[in-house]
Amino acid sequence: CGIVGIVGKQPVSERLVDALKWLEYRGYDSAGVATITEGALHRRRAEGKLVNLEARLKEEPLSGTIGIAHTRWATHGAPTERNAHPHFTGGVAVVHNGIIENFAEIKDELSAVGAEFLTETDTEVVAHLLAKYRREGMGLREAMHAMLKRVRGAYALAVLFEDDPSTIMAARNGPPLAIGHGNGEMFLGSDAIALAPFTNEITYLVDGDWAVIGRTGVHIFDTEGNVVARPRQVSMAAA
Ligand code: GLU
Repeated sequence: CGIVGIVGKQPVSERLVDALKWLEYRGYDSAGVATITEGALHRRRAEGKLVNLEARLKEEPLSGTIGIAHTRWATHGAPTERNAHPHFTGGVAVVHNGIIENFAEIKDELSAVGAEFLTETDTEVVAHLLAKYRREGMGLREAMHAMLKRVRGAYALAVLFEDDPSTIMAARNGPPLAIGHGNGEMFLGSDAIALAPFTNEITYLVDGDWAVIGRTGVHIFDTEGNVVARPRQVSMAAA
Protein backbone atom coordinates (compact mmCIF):
# COMPACT_ATOMS: atom_id res chain seq x y z
CA CYS A 1 0.00 0.00 0.00
CA GLY A 2 3.02 2.26 0.19
CA ILE A 3 6.25 2.42 -1.80
CA VAL A 4 9.57 4.12 -1.15
CA GLY A 5 12.82 3.96 -3.08
CA ILE A 6 16.24 5.58 -2.79
CA VAL A 7 19.07 5.69 -5.30
CA GLY A 8 21.60 7.01 -2.85
CA LYS A 9 25.18 7.51 -1.87
CA GLN A 10 24.69 6.60 1.81
CA PRO A 11 23.24 3.35 3.19
CA VAL A 12 19.49 3.27 2.57
CA SER A 13 17.75 0.55 4.55
CA GLU A 14 17.06 2.60 7.71
CA ARG A 15 16.01 5.63 5.72
CA LEU A 16 13.64 3.50 3.65
CA VAL A 17 11.91 2.11 6.72
CA ASP A 18 11.69 5.58 8.30
CA ALA A 19 10.06 6.86 5.11
CA LEU A 20 7.56 3.97 5.17
CA LYS A 21 6.39 5.27 8.56
CA TRP A 22 5.02 8.34 6.78
CA LEU A 23 2.82 6.00 4.74
CA GLU A 24 1.47 4.02 7.72
CA TYR A 25 -1.73 6.10 7.71
CA ARG A 26 -2.80 4.20 4.57
CA GLY A 27 -2.96 0.92 6.51
CA TYR A 28 -0.91 -2.25 5.87
CA ASP A 29 -0.44 -5.81 7.12
CA SER A 30 3.24 -6.53 6.36
CA ALA A 31 6.33 -4.79 5.06
CA GLY A 32 9.66 -5.39 3.39
CA VAL A 33 12.80 -3.81 2.04
CA ALA A 34 15.31 -4.82 -0.67
CA THR A 35 18.74 -3.46 -1.52
CA ILE A 36 21.33 -4.20 -4.14
CA THR A 37 25.09 -4.44 -3.70
CA GLU A 38 27.60 -5.38 -6.39
CA GLY A 39 25.35 -7.62 -8.43
CA ALA A 40 23.36 -9.20 -5.59
CA LEU A 41 19.86 -8.51 -4.27
CA HIS A 42 19.09 -8.71 -0.56
CA ARG A 43 15.86 -8.40 1.39
CA ARG A 44 14.19 -8.49 4.78
CA ARG A 45 10.43 -8.86 5.24
CA ALA A 46 8.08 -9.13 8.20
CA GLU A 47 4.42 -9.63 8.96
CA GLY A 48 2.64 -6.93 10.90
CA LYS A 49 3.90 -3.51 11.87
CA LEU A 50 7.09 -1.77 10.84
CA VAL A 51 8.58 -2.42 14.30
CA ASN A 52 8.76 -6.08 13.28
CA LEU A 53 10.68 -5.21 10.12
CA GLU A 54 12.95 -2.95 12.17
CA ALA A 55 13.62 -5.84 14.56
CA ARG A 56 14.53 -8.08 11.59
CA LEU A 57 16.90 -5.42 10.30
CA LYS A 58 18.48 -5.08 13.71
CA GLU A 59 19.20 -8.83 13.82
CA GLU A 60 20.45 -8.87 10.25
CA PRO A 61 21.26 -5.41 8.87
CA LEU A 62 21.06 -4.72 5.14
CA SER A 63 23.82 -2.81 3.44
CA GLY A 64 23.44 -1.08 0.10
CA THR A 65 22.99 2.45 -1.17
CA ILE A 66 20.12 1.60 -3.52
CA GLY A 67 16.87 0.09 -2.33
CA ILE A 68 13.11 -0.19 -2.47
CA ALA A 69 10.62 -0.74 0.36
CA HIS A 70 6.95 -1.56 0.69
CA THR A 71 4.02 -1.70 3.04
CA ARG A 72 1.50 -4.26 1.83
CA TRP A 73 -2.25 -4.30 2.13
CA ALA A 74 -2.95 -7.80 0.85
CA THR A 75 -5.43 -8.18 -1.98
CA HIS A 76 -4.28 -11.59 -3.31
CA GLY A 77 -2.68 -14.03 -0.88
CA ALA A 78 -2.67 -14.00 2.92
CA PRO A 79 -0.65 -11.35 4.79
CA THR A 80 2.28 -13.67 5.51
CA GLU A 81 6.02 -13.04 5.31
CA ARG A 82 6.18 -15.24 2.21
CA ASN A 83 3.62 -13.07 0.40
CA ALA A 84 5.19 -9.80 1.59
CA HIS A 85 6.97 -7.70 -1.00
CA PRO A 86 9.66 -7.32 -2.38
CA HIS A 87 9.21 -10.39 -4.60
CA PHE A 88 12.40 -11.88 -6.01
CA THR A 89 12.88 -14.04 -9.04
CA GLY A 90 15.64 -14.45 -11.61
CA GLY A 91 17.62 -11.41 -10.50
CA VAL A 92 14.62 -9.10 -10.33
CA ALA A 93 13.05 -7.48 -7.25
CA VAL A 94 9.57 -5.97 -7.37
CA VAL A 95 7.29 -4.01 -5.04
CA HIS A 96 3.75 -3.18 -6.09
CA ASN A 97 0.70 -1.29 -4.95
CA GLY A 98 -2.59 -2.11 -6.62
CA ILE A 99 -3.89 -5.15 -8.47
CA ILE A 100 -2.65 -6.91 -11.63
CA GLU A 101 -6.00 -7.96 -13.09
CA ASN A 102 -4.74 -10.50 -15.62
CA PHE A 103 -2.28 -12.18 -13.24
CA ALA A 104 -4.00 -15.60 -13.31
CA GLU A 105 -3.69 -15.86 -17.07
CA ILE A 106 -0.02 -14.79 -17.01
CA LYS A 107 0.72 -17.14 -14.12
CA ASP A 108 -0.79 -20.11 -15.99
CA GLU A 109 1.14 -19.26 -19.12
CA LEU A 110 4.49 -18.91 -17.31
CA SER A 111 3.91 -21.97 -15.09
CA ALA A 112 3.28 -24.03 -18.22
CA VAL A 113 6.81 -23.24 -19.38
CA GLY A 114 8.43 -23.96 -16.04
CA ALA A 115 8.20 -20.78 -13.96
CA GLU A 116 8.06 -21.57 -10.26
CA PHE A 117 5.80 -19.26 -8.28
CA LEU A 118 6.61 -18.88 -4.60
CA THR A 119 3.70 -16.67 -3.49
CA GLU A 120 -0.05 -16.35 -3.89
CA THR A 121 0.20 -12.70 -4.90
CA ASP A 122 -0.85 -11.12 -8.17
CA THR A 123 2.40 -9.12 -8.03
CA GLU A 124 4.77 -12.04 -8.54
CA VAL A 125 3.90 -12.24 -12.25
CA VAL A 126 5.62 -8.88 -12.73
CA ALA A 127 8.94 -10.25 -11.47
CA HIS A 128 8.56 -13.42 -13.55
CA LEU A 129 7.74 -11.53 -16.74
CA LEU A 130 10.76 -9.25 -16.29
CA ALA A 131 13.05 -12.20 -15.55
CA LYS A 132 11.76 -14.05 -18.62
CA TYR A 133 12.24 -11.07 -20.93
CA ARG A 134 15.78 -10.59 -19.63
CA ARG A 135 16.56 -14.28 -20.15
CA GLU A 136 15.30 -13.93 -23.70
CA GLY A 137 17.89 -11.22 -24.24
CA MET A 138 15.99 -7.98 -23.80
CA GLY A 139 17.75 -4.98 -22.26
CA LEU A 140 16.54 -3.50 -18.99
CA ARG A 141 14.33 -0.83 -20.51
CA GLU A 142 13.03 -3.09 -23.23
CA ALA A 143 12.04 -5.70 -20.64
CA MET A 144 10.30 -3.08 -18.50
CA HIS A 145 8.37 -1.76 -21.48
CA ALA A 146 7.37 -5.26 -22.62
CA MET A 147 6.19 -6.18 -19.11
CA LEU A 148 4.06 -3.04 -18.91
CA LYS A 149 2.43 -3.89 -22.22
CA ARG A 150 1.53 -7.35 -20.88
CA VAL A 151 -0.01 -6.49 -17.49
CA ARG A 152 -3.44 -4.93 -16.99
CA GLY A 153 -4.75 -3.28 -13.88
CA ALA A 154 -3.79 -0.70 -11.34
CA TYR A 155 -0.22 -0.37 -10.23
CA ALA A 156 2.54 1.64 -8.74
CA LEU A 157 5.69 -0.42 -9.23
CA ALA A 158 9.33 -0.20 -8.24
CA VAL A 159 11.89 -2.63 -9.66
CA LEU A 160 15.53 -3.50 -9.03
CA PHE A 161 17.60 -5.53 -11.50
CA GLU A 162 20.52 -7.46 -10.06
CA ASP A 163 22.69 -6.68 -13.10
CA ASP A 164 22.12 -2.94 -12.88
CA PRO A 165 23.19 -1.90 -9.38
CA SER A 166 22.73 1.82 -10.02
CA THR A 167 19.09 2.18 -11.07
CA ILE A 168 15.52 1.86 -9.84
CA MET A 169 12.77 1.47 -12.44
CA ALA A 170 9.26 2.61 -11.63
CA ALA A 171 5.85 2.68 -13.28
CA ARG A 172 2.48 4.16 -12.53
CA ASN A 173 -1.05 3.38 -13.64
CA GLY A 174 -3.55 4.35 -10.98
CA PRO A 175 -1.94 4.59 -7.55
CA PRO A 176 0.20 7.74 -7.31
CA LEU A 177 3.96 7.71 -7.52
CA ALA A 178 6.29 10.67 -7.04
CA ILE A 179 9.97 11.08 -7.82
CA GLY A 180 12.03 13.21 -5.47
CA HIS A 181 15.10 15.12 -6.60
CA GLY A 182 17.88 15.24 -4.02
CA ASN A 183 21.46 16.35 -3.98
CA GLY A 184 23.30 13.51 -5.72
CA GLU A 185 20.51 11.16 -4.60
CA MET A 186 17.09 10.44 -6.09
CA PHE A 187 13.95 9.20 -4.34
CA LEU A 188 10.69 7.49 -5.13
CA GLY A 189 7.55 7.49 -3.03
CA SER A 190 3.82 6.91 -3.00
CA ASP A 191 3.39 10.53 -2.00
CA ALA A 192 5.27 13.72 -1.29
CA ILE A 193 4.82 13.26 2.46
CA ALA A 194 6.96 10.13 2.42
CA LEU A 195 9.62 12.08 0.54
CA ALA A 196 9.44 15.18 2.73
CA PRO A 197 12.35 14.10 4.97
CA PHE A 198 14.55 13.90 1.85
CA THR A 199 13.52 16.63 -0.55
CA ASN A 200 10.72 19.02 -1.46
CA GLU A 201 11.43 18.91 -5.20
CA ILE A 202 9.00 16.43 -6.71
CA THR A 203 8.01 15.14 -10.11
CA TYR A 204 4.71 13.24 -10.23
CA LEU A 205 4.40 10.42 -12.72
CA VAL A 206 1.25 10.52 -14.85
CA ASP A 207 -0.81 7.34 -15.46
CA GLY A 208 0.98 5.22 -18.06
CA ASP A 209 4.40 6.72 -17.24
CA TRP A 210 7.43 4.67 -16.38
CA ALA A 211 10.79 5.90 -15.22
CA VAL A 212 14.45 4.99 -15.02
CA ILE A 213 15.89 6.59 -11.90
CA GLY A 214 19.62 7.02 -11.41
CA ARG A 215 21.56 8.77 -8.67
CA THR A 216 21.70 12.07 -10.52
CA GLY A 217 18.42 12.17 -12.41
CA VAL A 218 15.46 10.46 -14.00
CA HIS A 219 14.29 9.61 -17.50
CA ILE A 220 10.52 9.33 -17.91
CA PHE A 221 8.76 7.49 -20.74
CA ASP A 222 5.13 7.16 -21.82
CA THR A 223 3.27 3.98 -22.75
CA GLU A 224 4.75 4.10 -26.26
CA GLY A 225 8.25 4.36 -24.88
CA ASN A 226 8.71 8.00 -25.89
CA VAL A 227 10.66 10.28 -23.57
CA VAL A 228 8.30 12.71 -21.85
CA ALA A 229 8.90 15.83 -19.76
CA ARG A 230 7.00 16.11 -16.48
CA PRO A 231 7.16 19.23 -14.35
CA ARG A 232 9.39 19.45 -11.33
CA GLN A 233 7.48 21.17 -8.58
CA VAL A 234 8.10 22.30 -5.04
CA SER A 235 6.07 20.20 -2.63
CA MET A 236 4.26 21.83 0.26
CA ALA A 237 4.54 18.68 2.40
CA ALA A 238 6.58 19.65 5.46
CA ALA A 239 9.22 17.38 6.94
N1 GLU B 1 -2.00 -6.81 -4.87
C1 GLU B 1 -0.74 -6.83 -4.20
C2 GLU B 1 -0.72 -7.88 -3.11
O1 GLU B 1 -1.73 -8.33 -2.66
C3 GLU B 1 -0.34 -5.45 -3.64
C4 GLU B 1 -1.24 -4.95 -2.53
C5 GLU B 1 -0.87 -3.53 -2.07
O2 GLU B 1 -1.27 -2.57 -2.75
O3 GLU B 1 -0.21 -3.39 -1.02
O4 GLU B 1 0.31 -8.30 -2.71
